[in-house]
Amino acid sequence: MSTQSASRLDLSKFPRSVLLEGPTPIQHLARLSAHLGGVNIYVKRDDLTGLGGGGNKLRKLEFLIGEALAKGADTILTVGARQSNHARLTAASAARVGLQCELALTRAVPRFDNDYLENGNILLDDLFGARVHDLPAAANSAEFIEARANELRAQGRNVYVTLLGGSSPTGCLGYAACAGEIAAQSNASAVSFDHIVLPNGSGGTHAGLLAGFVALGLDQSILDTFAVYGNAAQAHAGTLEKANQAARLIDASLQVNGESIRIDGTQFGPGYGIPTDAMRAAVRLLASKEGLLIDPVYGGKAFAGLIERVTSGQYRPGQNILFLMTGGIPGLFAYRSEF
Ligand SMILES: *Cc1c(COP(=O)(O)O)cnc(C)c1O
Repeated sequence: MSTQSASRLDLSKFPRSVLLEGPTPIQHLARLSAHLGGVNIYVKRDDLTGLGGGGNKLRKLEFLIGEALAKGADTILTVGARQSNHARLTAASAARVGLQCELALTRAVPRFDNDYLENGNILLDDLFGARVHDLPAAANSAEFIEARANELRAQGRNVYVTLLGGSSPTGCLGYAACAGEIAAQSNASAVSFDHIVLPNGSGGTHAGLLAGFVALGLDQSILDTFAVYGNAAQAHAGTLEKANQAARLIDASLQVNGESIRIDGTQFGPGYGIPTDAMRAAVRLLASKEGLLIDPVYGGKAFAGLIERVTSGQYRPGQNILFLMTGGIPGLFAYRSEF
């Protein structure tokens, strides 16, 4: 990363509900770096966001809840899988700002043990006071939530709906803001990152970072993501579209270059939310070498990809690699039997 010349990253015109306490830290992992043969591993601690157990969705929710409140909403609805971190953090954010919350959660991940169905995120959704609609695997949650929104509107409620992962153009602005935060921390510490590694689920985190990098005049191709929700081609198309929508919200003249978007499909495994051996090893390595927790659905697979790139020599000793820790720790309790 190098210093930007003319930054066009100004997000002050967007309504924002502050849910973070300020910048999340970037930390160097000395023991893990030595263990991996001298590549410098850093982590950006977006798991250390204070509300509701923390995680990347809070950055998106700052702008989504901001927009909901600006529109006078009294209720927020969203969708996800049964163990959705986005749903859990929407419920927590709604509790914080005083909105009613309803979640349409599908059984899309083929796991039927009690830990998956009742522990982890789903336990927390209940504690935060959200109403959960339990939908079968094949249900169309977007259609369901639109119908439910209309039902509530007919009762006089003012409803704000967010879709999968909170990755609307507005939600993506949260990670455009994070791009600015990373650039500022990099400048202040004089550590220039060769690669920034993160999971790609609904794609909004990657898309927001891309939009932010373009607005800052930084090289987008240092963002290396690992697809965990679909294959790499699907992730690429969705991420490019979201990145350009977010970029245009920031400044109509900005454009993201599809050729510089890096998405790797090799850690996806058998499907979304389905464990792989490499994921299990990655979760254990980070926990046992550094006392840090990543989740089985997103961070575990992305960190497995980072390790693979170090062992295969793609990431070399002396390079600075920043891993974005996106949270999702409640997922570990839902996947107890895998460990
Ligand atoms: C949602 C999520 C991601 C992926 O973010 P997207 O913006 O959906 O790509 C990564 N990690 C965790 C823990 C998540 O909950």
